[in-house]
Amino acid sequence: MTIAFIDLKAQQARLRDRIDAALKRVLDHGAYVMGPEVAEFERQLGAFGGASHVLSCASGTDAVALPLMAWGIGRGDAVFCPSFTFAATAEVVPWFDAVPVFVDILPDTYNIDPEALERAILEVKAKGQLKPAAIIAVDLFGQPADYPKIADIARRHGLKLIADSAQGFGSTLDGKHPLHWADCTATSFFPAKPLGAYGDGGAVLTNDAELYAVMHSLRVHGQGTDKYDNVRIGLNSRLDTMQAAILIEKLAVFPEEIVWRNRIADRYARLLQGAVETPTVIAGGISTWAQYTVETEDRDALMAALKEQGVPTAAYYPKPLHVQTAYRDFPVAGNGLPVSMDKAGKVVSLPMHADLDEATQDRIVEAVRAFTDGGMRRTG
Ligand SMILES: *Cc1c(COP(=O)(O)O)cnc(C)c1O
Repeated sequence: MTIAFIDLKAQQARLRDRIDAALKRVLDHGAYVMGPEVAEFERQLGAFGGASHVLSCASGTDAVALPLMAWGIGRGDAVFCPSFTFAATAEVVPWFDAVPVFVDILPDTYNIDPEALERAILEVKAKGQLKPAAIIAVDLFGQPADYPKIADIARRHGLKLIADSAQGFGSTLDGKHPLHWADCTATSFFPAKPLGAYGDGGAVLTNDAELYAVMHSLRVHGQGTDKYDNVRIGLNSRLDTMQAAILIEKLAVFPEEIVWRNRIADRYARLLQGAVETPTVIAGGISTWAQYTVETEDRDALMAALKEQGVPTAAYYPKPLHVQTAYRDFPVAGNGLPVSMDKAGKVVSLPMHADLDEATQDRIVEAVRAFTDGGMRRTG
C-alpha cells in the first residue's frame, strides 16, 4: 500500500453520502453562484471561528488581499510579513503597489519573531521612505503565531493586523482564535488545507462591520446598494455554491478532526523522540497540524530514504521568499533572515491528515528511524 501525504480519499469515504446529498441539493435548486449554501456556510464558519462577519471568497490568496484592498493600502506603504511562508502571503502586497518587508521567524515555532518585527518597523520608520501600514502574521504549519505580542506591537505602531490562517484556521491560543487579536483572519479552502473544499475557495473572518462592508462590495466588482452603480473598483471573488455545500459537511466534522490530528501529532512526537527534532507548539496553543514538520541536518538524504520506503514527504519551504526571483528586490529587515535560511535547509514534513491510522504511522516512524539510527532501535 502506498502511503498518502494527505489522504483526501479516506476523508471523502467517511463523508461521501453527506457530500453527495449536499451536491444533489445544489443541482436541484440550481443557484450555482451565491446560492443559499454560501450564506449558510458563512454563518456556520463565523460561529465556529468567533467572528460576527464572514466573507467567503474565491481563494485564500484573495482572502489575504481583500482586507489590504479594503483598507486602501498602496504606494508608499510597508507591509511586514515572514519570508518563511507560502508565496501568497507576500504576493498580494505588490498587487496594490505596497512593499512587503520580510521579517525573520522564531527558531522553535517558525512563526514571525515579534522582536524582529518591532525592530523592522522601527527601521522602516527611521529610513522614512515607506510608511508602516500592516502586518501579515502567518500561522505556519497550523499553529498560531504569538498574537498577544504581535497585536501589542501593531497597536503601539498603529498598524493593521491580518492573521494569515490558511494553514492554521481552527487553531487557538489560550482557547482563543487568532481573530481575538487580529483585525481579520484570512483562510484558504484549497483541498489540502486542514479545512479544504474540492476546489479553490477562501474566507475572511472579522468583527469589524465596516471592514466587512467594504470587502463585501469589493468581492462583487465594487458594487453599491444599486447593483449597476459600482462605487469602487473591485473584483470577482465569490465562493462557488458547490464548494460551500461541501464545506458545510466538512466543517461539521472539523472540530473532531482537529482532535484526531492532535492525537496523531502527539504520537509522532513520542515515537520520533531522539531521531529527529520534533515540532514545538507555542505555550497555550493548539495546532491544526496542516503539516507535521520535523528537522534534521540530513534533510535531503532522509527524504530520499523515505521515498525509497514508499513514504512521501515534502520540504516546506526549501527557499524563503526573500531569496526567490520575484521577491529578492524587496526589503529584508535587520541583518538578513538567518533563522529562515537555516530552517529552509532542515525542515521536512511527514504525512499528516485526520485519517492517518496507527499502523501507517508506525511504518512512517520505522522508516525514519531506519535512516536515523540504522534500524538499531525499535519503535513503539
Ligand atoms: C495556501 C496558503 C495561502 C493561499 O491559499 P490559496 O487558497 O491557495 O490561494 C495563503 N497563505 C498561506 C500561508 C497558505 O499556506
